[in-house]
Amino acid sequence: MTKFDNYINGEWISADHYVKNINPSDISDIIGEYASANAAQTERAINSAYSASQSWGDSTPQERFNILDFVANELFSRADELGDLLAREEGKTLPEGKGEVMRAGQVFKFFAGEALRLNGEILASVRPEVDVEVTREAVGVIGMITPWNFPIAIPAWKIAPALAYGNAVVFKPAELVPASAWSLIEILSRSGLPKGVVNLIMGAGRIVGEAIVTSDKVGAVSFTGSVATGENIRSKAASRGAKVQLEMGGKNPLVILDDADIDVAVNCAVQGAFYSTGQRCTASSRFIVTAGIYDEFVQKLTAATKALKVGDARDSSTQIGPVIDEKQLQSDLDYIDIAVKEGAKLVCGGQRLDLDKKGFYMQPALFIDTSPHMRINKEEVFGPVASVLKVSDYDEALKTANDTEFGLSAGICTSSLKYARDFKKKSQAGMVMVNLPTAGVDYHVPFGGRKGSSYGSREQGSYAREFYTIVKTCYIWAI
Ligand code: ADP
Repeated sequence: MTKFDNYINGEWISADHYVKNINPSDISDIIGEYASANAAQTERAINSAYSASQSWGDSTPQERFNILDFVANELFSRADELGDLLAREEGKTLPEGKGEVMRAGQVFKFFAGEALRLNGEILASVRPEVDVEVTREAVGVIGMITPWNFPIAIPAWKIAPALAYGNAVVFKPAELVPASAWSLIEILSRSGLPKGVVNLIMGAGRIVGEAIVTSDKVGAVSFTGSVATGENIRSKAASRGAKVQLEMGGKNPLVILDDADIDVAVNCAVQGAFYSTGQRCTASSRFIVTAGIYDEFVQKLTAATKALKVGDARDSSTQIGPVIDEKQLQSDLDYIDIAVKEGAKLVCGGQRLDLDKKGFYMQPALFIDTSPHMRINKEEVFGPVASVLKVSDYDEALKTANDTEFGLSAGICTSSLKYARDFKKKSQAGMVMVNLPTAGVDYHVPFGGRKGSSYGSREQGSYAREFYTIVKTCYIWAI
C-alpha cells in the first residue's frame, strides 16, 4: 500500500500514523495511506511557513504569476486523471470530478493574473505638499482548513489567492479526501516555489486544525466546513487577533412561482438538490412552490427524482454517486426518520441502496406536505434530501425563503421581471439565482453568504484580496 507524506519546508516528511483513504463507491478499494500529523509536526509546518513568508512577501509579481500559471496548466492537462482520483475518493461522478479539477485550474489561472494586477492608490493629502499612498501587503502565514466535499477546488480557491498576494500557506485538508489535496501540493512542489512557502499538513481537526487556529504565527485562518467547527475556530482565532474567514452551512431555498417555465424549474430543482449527491453547501434543500403550479411541479419533480441513477461514481452511466462515508449516510437516514415522524410525506427515495459493490449509496429523497417549522426545513442535512413547501403567493414565498438562520444561496424560477427583481433585492442570501440552480457558481466573482452561513470577507474573484492582504496608509511630505 502506497504511503503519502506531509510536505513541510520543501520536503516530504513521514508521520507516526497513517490513515486509509477509502473509496465510498467500493469500500474494498483503498486509495492509499495518508500521513496524519501530530502537534509537533504541525508546529514545524507553521514555523517553516513563518520563516519563508518574509522573502515570499518580497517576491515579484512575475515570480508569483509563473508559479500559479504552472499549476493551472498542469491541472488542465491532467484533468481526466485527477478528476478520476477525485471521483474515487469523494464519490462525485466523473464529469463532476473532472469539472472540479478544471475549476481548480481556472482559479489558479485567474489568480496568476491577479498577481500582476495588485495595485494601490495615491491620493492628495488634505495637507499641502503631502501625498498619501494606500498599499496592500501580504498578511504573512495563512492557515487553511478545508472540508471533504470539494477536495481540490476549495483548496485551490484559498491557496491561489494566498500565494498571489505574497502569503505563505499551512494547509490542512479534510481527513476523508487527502489524495486530491496531496496531488495539488505535489504539483506546487515542482512549481519553483521557494521551500516553506506552502506546507501540507494532513491530520485530525482537533490536533492539526487546533494547532493552526491557535498559533500566534498564523495571521489569518480561512475555513470551510460545518457551523459548529466554524464557530469554534472563530472564537479561538479572533480572540488572539487573527483574521478569520468562514464558509459554513446553508439551507438554500428555490422559489417556484406559478409563471415559471416548469421544465426549467424541475431541472433547477434536480440539479441543485441532488447532483454531487446533495453534498454542496449551495445545494437547494427547500422548494417553495406557489399553489397554481404546485401539483404539476411535484408530479414532474417526483418522476425526475425517481429516474436518477445512483451508482459507482466512476461508472459513466451514474448520475448520483455515493454519500461520502457511513457516518454521513447514517445522519442522512436519521433525517429521513425525523421528517417522517414530524409529518412530512416521503414521495420517493430515502433508503440505503445495496449495490454490487459495497458502498454508501442512498436513493435521493423527496418530501412533500412539509412546513417551515419542521427540522427538515431548518437544519442542513448535507445529503440527497429535499422538501417541498406549498405557499399561496409570492409574498409568502419570499418570507418562507428568508425564514432560515442561513443565507448562502437562494433561487427563484419565474418569467416575471417584477418578482425576479424584487427577490434579488429582498433575498437575505449572499448569492441569488434567477432561473438557475442554487448550486453552480462562476470562479471569477465573489462567493459567500450572509447570516449563519459565512463570516468575514468574500472568497474568490478580485474580492479575495480583502482577506489575503493588509492595507497600509503612508504619508509622504516632499521636503
Ligand atoms: P464536516 O462535517 O464537513 O467534516 P467539519 O467542520 O467537522 O465538517 O470539518 C471541516 C474541516 O475542519 C476538516 O478539515 C476538519 O478536520 C476540520 N476540523 C474539525 N474539527 C476541528 C477543530 N476543532 N479545529 C480546527 N479544525 C477542525
